[in-house]
Amino acid sequence: MAEPRDSETVGNARSRPGGAPDARGMFGSFGGRFVPESLVAACATLEEAFLDAWADEGYRGELDSILRSYGGRPTPVTDCERVSDDLGVRVILKREDLAHTGSHKINNVVGQALLAKRMGKSRLIAETGAGQHGVATATAAAMFGMDCTVYMGEIDTRRQELNVFRMELLGAQVCPVSSGSQTLKDAVNEALRDWVASVEGTHYCIGSVMGPHPFPFIVRQLQSVIGEESRRQCRELLEGKDPDFVVACVGGGSNAAGTFAGFLDTSSRLIGVEAAGGAALTSGMPGVLHGMKSQILQDEFGQILEASSISAGLDYPGVGPEHAYLAEIGRADYVTAQDDEVLAAFEYLAKREGIIPALESAHAVAWVIREAGRLLPDGSTVLLTLSGRGDKDVAQVRDLMNATR
Ligand SMILES: *Cc1c(COP(=O)(O)O)cnc(C)c1O
Repeated sequence: MAEPRDSETVGNARSRPGGAPDARGMFGSFGGRFVPESLVAACATLEEAFLDAWADEGYRGELDSILRSYGGRPTPVTDCERVSDDLGVRVILKREDLAHTGSHKINNVVGQALLAKRMGKSRLIAETGAGQHGVATATAAAMFGMDCTVYMGEIDTRRQELNVFRMELLGAQVCPVSSGSQTLKDAVNEALRDWVASVEGTHYCIGSVMGPHPFPFIVRQLQSVIGEESRRQCRELLEGKDPDFVVACVGGGSNAAGTFAGFLDTSSRLIGVEAAGGAALTSGMPGVLHGMKSQILQDEFGQILEASSISAGLDYPGVGPEHAYLAEIGRADYVTAQDDEVLAAFEYLAKREGIIPALESAHAVAWVIREAGRLLPDGSTVLLTLSGRGDKDVAQVRDLMNATR
């Protein structure tokens, strides 16, 4: 068994960028484990199991092999000549849209399913908003021969019927959640409730770098494959240099955290782009939600606000605690994109490069288009993680475009 590298040892006196959270699961003043007594032991057991797995060449080797033969890794980077000519900055896309199921989510669910199997568990549960993480979890469960239950707000099950069908097709059971606002926030609560009662045989496969410790750490490590690959690929393209800017969209923050993980110790500037209508880092306040302390969209009484944007995948009122920490120490900057710029960016990338981005990823594209020649000096290099493909969004975009014409 390999020794864990320092950056992967939980319990450092103090967290530092790129490292593990401290012994309480804190990244600076964010993170932690704010859960009922009944889940403390489950989280501690999971933490131990993950550290053991992550240090084990057997686990890491099997994960790499599945991601290669099944997940489509490594994903390529694309040097976008037409966009670069047009904007005056060199834009390199990290193509997570080419991964199996069409986004980076496969990296996380395969890693967690493999961990669950190693822990002797035969059932996965998950929360989902737009349905993408639910579909990814159902995919991993099918591939590993595990049972799968997905909690989804009742309103979301109606908005995303096709994804409900996809999950059922993959053999998962979808449980509509009718409490609260009947959306993602309530689905997480319901999944946590299930986990309390079923923890013996069930793993909660959380969908982003959120929730109680160790989930934000586990998901970041599993998504760090994006950053590690990108760093190598960029150095090949840029004659040994790192990109000047590294940009990714932020919902819960997993594709951004995984991308940033490869560049925290470089001089690349890190930029996370939130949806203007779901900007927990830009407009939120510190608070506790879903077992973690982070920046949360809330009113003056601490009531959680509904996030809302053009892309359902960014509609989460919180954000992963590591991002709150990176913002706090100034290592990463967080900005927003508006729905109309995002729509324009969606169409722009399709027409210029023949790549239809997910609406989530189009937020990052929108920021680059807006800031080219401003915050992004002429001739600078930008790595942009294209978190997913836009096939799922074309019908919605068609309707939005028709409505504004
Ligand atoms: C789910 C999703 C996101 C948002 O999740 P993060 O955890 O912030 O990465 C972004 N892009 C795509 C394509 C997604 O499916």
